[in-house]
Amino acid sequence: MDTEKILKAGKIASEVKKYARTIVKPGISLYEIAEKIEEKIKEKGGKPAFPVNLSIDNIAAHYTPSNEDKTTARGLLKIDLGVHVDGWIADTAFSIDLENNEENKKLIEASEKALQNALKIAKMNCSLNEIGKTISNAIESSGFSPIINLSGHGMEKYQLHTGITIPNIDDNKNIKLKEGLYAIEPFATTGSGRVHDGKSSGIYELKNEKNVRSPIAREILEFIIKEYGTLPFCSRNLIKKFGTKALFGLKQLESNGNLHSYAQLVEIPSSKVSQAEETILILKDKVIVTTL
Ligand code: MN
Ligand code: MN
Repeated sequence: MDTEKILKAGKIASEVKKYARTIVKPGISLYEIAEKIEEKIKEKGGKPAFPVNLSIDNIAAHYTPSNEDKTTARGLLKIDLGVHVDGWIADTAFSIDLENNEENKKLIEASEKALQNALKIAKMNCSLNEIGKTISNAIESSGFSPIINLSGHGMEKYQLHTGITIPNIDDNKNIKLKEGLYAIEPFATTGSGRVHDGKSSGIYELKNEKNVRSPIAREILEFIIKEYGTLPFCSRNLIKKFGTKALFGLKQLESNGNLHSYAQLVEIPSSKVSQAEETILILKDKVIVTTL
């Protein structure tokens, strides 16, 4: 692990999070928010580790605006951003109430409280289900439900999800937290406590590098390999480089089986979801919250 780069990515993420709070107002387009955040990350010497997720109300995660998206900021908005420095990732999120609604505010407090409580106990050899229990206790005592099929995760160089999950409930698995880089991310909801796959999000990830016939698709594939590697990206990013023909190339790559396409993660209609997330570096003798 490269501690210096991990801390640098965390510091950039923390600064960009503060910046994001100054630009997000009701009525600003999600497109403008996403572009400004991703630009700010680059300005500060990092790269986006994934497209900024801007998910409203019952969409829990994986919404990023496309070029044509006219959606404006409203309701209960989750802002989830990632930074990497040479592949070392910081993943952090917060929620904002844009309609001055009491229930939204309580939901936001619930996921933040759950995160703060989890951060207090997360250390070397702590059980992951203890963290999960702490998270669900905080959310349930506020009168809401944790989303049980979303979880925190281990991270490695150029790898956003290692396969280690930090549950948002007590899953009865007594796995110990080891040295490494992790994201903890409680979600609180007025809904069912489970998300399902919604519409396609326009967020993709490279699955394999197999040959594709169309020249533009091949050109885009090479760019994806070089620029994103195994990290997620979206059409906005490619249109900047290739113009709108990127959309044609993306379609080709998708049907050729080169890409994994993410779905939006959605709670039941009329429900609300809040999220809070920080990245932690667990070392033998200490824990650093890199994104504070
Ligand atoms: Mn995140
Ligand atoms: Mn995450």
